[in-house]
Amino acid sequence: FSWKTQAFILLQANTTGLGGWGDALSQANSFLSQLTLEEKVQIVTGAQGPCIGNIAPIPRLGFSGLCLQDGPLAIRQATYASVFPAGLTAAASWDKGLIHQRGVYLGEEFRGKGAHVALLPVAGTLGRSATGGRNWEGFSPDPYLTGVAMDVTIRAVQSTGVQTTSKHVVGNEQETQRNPSTIFPNGTSVSNVLFGAPPGGITIEAVSSNIDDRTMHEVYLWPFADSVRAGTTSIMCSYNRLNASYGCQNSKILNGILKDELAFQGYVMSDWGATHSGVSSVLAGLDMTMPGGISFLSDTPSYLGQNLTAAVQNGSVPEARLNDMVRRVMTPYFLLGQDNDFPPVDPSSTDANFFTLLAPPSTWRYEFNLTGPSNVDVRGNHAQLIRQLGAAGTVLLKNVNNALPLRNPQNIGVFGNDAGDFLNGLYSVTLSSNGDYEFGTQAVGGGSGTGRFTYVIPPLDAIKARANHASPDGALVQYILNNTLILQPDGLSTLLPYPPEVCLVFTKTFATEGFDRTTLELGWNGTEVVNTIARTCNNTIVVTHSGGLNILPFADNPNVTAILAAHFPGQESGNSIVDVLYGDVNPSGKLPYTIARNASDYNAPITNSTELLTTRDPNAWQADFTEGLMIDYRHFDMANITPQYEFGFGLSYTTFDIGNISLTALTDGPVSALPPPAATQPGGNPTLWDALYRVTVTVSNTGDIGGATVAQLYLDMGSGAPEGTPVRVLRGFEKVSVQPGQSTEVSFALTRRDISYWDIVAQNWRISSGEMTVSVGLSSRDLRQEIALTVL
Ligand code: BGC
Repeated sequence: FSWKTQAFILLQANTTGLGGWGDALSQANSFLSQLTLEEKVQIVTGAQGPCIGNIAPIPRLGFSGLCLQDGPLAIRQATYASVFPAGLTAAASWDKGLIHQRGVYLGEEFRGKGAHVALLPVAGTLGRSATGGRNWEGFSPDPYLTGVAMDVTIRAVQSTGVQTTSKHVVGNEQETQRNPSTIFPNGTSVSNVLFGAPPGGITIEAVSSNIDDRTMHEVYLWPFADSVRAGTTSIMCSYNRLNASYGCQNSKILNGILKDELAFQGYVMSDWGATHSGVSSVLAGLDMTMPGGISFLSDTPSYLGQNLTAAVQNGSVPEARLNDMVRRVMTPYFLLGQDNDFPPVDPSSTDANFFTLLAPPSTWRYEFNLTGPSNVDVRGNHAQLIRQLGAAGTVLLKNVNNALPLRNPQNIGVFGNDAGDFLNGLYSVTLSSNGDYEFGTQAVGGGSGTGRFTYVIPPLDAIKARANHASPDGALVQYILNNTLILQPDGLSTLLPYPPEVCLVFTKTFATEGFDRTTLELGWNGTEVVNTIARTCNNTIVVTHSGGLNILPFADNPNVTAILAAHFPGQESGNSIVDVLYGDVNPSGKLPYTIARNASDYNAPITNSTELLTTRDPNAWQADFTEGLMIDYRHFDMANITPQYEFGFGLSYTTFDIGNISLTALTDGPVSALPPPAATQPGGNPTLWDALYRVTVTVSNTGDIGGATVAQLYLDMGSGAPEGTPVRVLRGFEKVSVQPGQSTEVSFALTRRDISYWDIVAQNWRISSGEMTVSVGLSSRDLRQEIALTVL
């Protein structure tokens, strides 16, 4: 081997079966021993087939192949599958139980369709920039909240025997220039991801997310560490470059951090078209390329495939590396029992997965006789949970004059282009970036993270049903769903009597893979629609359906009596919101991000200057994460900016208080600053998860009706922590239901990792010396109790 290959070999962390994967690894080993070189290569190279990603079967060994399907809120292309609330919505519920149930049901649906691998969950995009196009696919810009949601989701999905792919590692924080592009002499440019680099132009490389070591560990890697610890079976490397090397050929992150530091035992799969080399990527730690070819053209060769066979034969890649790749891919298959009675692939989404039908080489085409019946209905009774989680992930931001819950109003106005049904079909409109469709409730976003609906409940339909308007004493429900009409001079003149007792304005904001948002305003002139109605209706209630945060310039308008951020709720959109509006559900969602007063209050914008759009410099796209740890609320706290609604905020129809904080040490004797050396386990040094302290509070319901709230624990690491440490960070949360006049005890375990920062010199987690402060409250700025914590 060349010196370069040898250096890479030294960096390889081979799978060893840690974390209870030993038996499955033995099975993978005996499977491996029966494979030819070509078959080994086949196991790590995407092929044509019925799914968005396919590993071809090996019938002679009874191997079914692998069917990989999108995505984070539904088995995307499938017929008769449920469309669940988005990750952002799940995070806004702060409800571990509901997030778990969502994961179980998602897993059941993927399994029912014969999908071995679910391309979920998402922790990157984390949400560095407020306008990130994919912020809604993941959970929250807070790494702790996202880390818990990742852990819960992965365990839930894998409990059904379906693999998870935690994606995208790492720094995939913007859609703009996420892939290389080609710029031509005449100034036009195209993305290279679909068909490769066309001749005649200059390749401009993908944006490089430049992330320092501490920020990497404490923010962007944090939830992936939770994912590895939870046993995620695969990880998808990202389109962007990370510190100047492409995500899928970055040895530091793949070999160094994932496989060595975090002892990840599964396989690293490329994002679709994110592989940009063969030998280099494989030696850097890539274990599987998807969808298989260099581009998405049917006659394209693969960077792996026959080129990998040749690289092993000529010694550029050691066969031991290929063997480890195969072990990493096959161990999860045996671990989850996928060799046994796994349902056959439902081929009904085949035609929609046209990119993978083009994958090379055709001789590896998935055997269609291995697929099962079409149009299998996997929805079960999952609609109930979808409705419940949609409501639980709705955040009540404002509620004055007792506007909510509605008390059986008899004249209801419904306004806005989000209130009605889809006009352009159940799927295609949401798939593409053109899916910013004018009419219809915005229940999900676009791109690979969308879902194919079997139905959607529009808010207007749910309101009509709830208002019982067809009965003799039912309510008048009058509506205008056309924003353009509402904004015309006499736009509201057809309504009578006017104003209605309550004016419900449904607004929406689209977000999609492939594009970042260009504004934080509500879509389709939503703000103007609200202002117009609020001018004459003094009980205007605003609902936002949005794949991220919105600036709400009308928040202090006295005629706007209530505001609800309903995120992307999935197929039960209307029912979920009506449950909250009428008080059948007491709202308990909390913001998983900060809503600022002005768009300019946010830092860390998308990198996208006008010079970059016409650059001839291949390396020009640099996103320097100079804000370090200060994203979202950490930035607002550090810069002392008052938000409109802070991280963790959300009202209820009752009120709560928190009291009686106490702190107990859970270990005898002194605690060391650095974690005791211990054999590494998936996730890293296992002592990082030792619970060192317990914090206990009581949460009481001080209002008149039952409800749930989220007790949130924040840590201020004090003056012992290095410069660049946030004012406070979330380090615990529990959602509790409490009856009026009652109280309940809530306790939080603080682990070693929770109270440590990443020491870049020691290359280890270090507990802050001196006095730290633990606060527990009802939001990041409504801290009700605090207690000192001095460890060192
Ligand atoms: C996305 C991935 C997705 C893949 C397959 C890519 O464009 O970034 O998240 O899983 O396509 O659809």
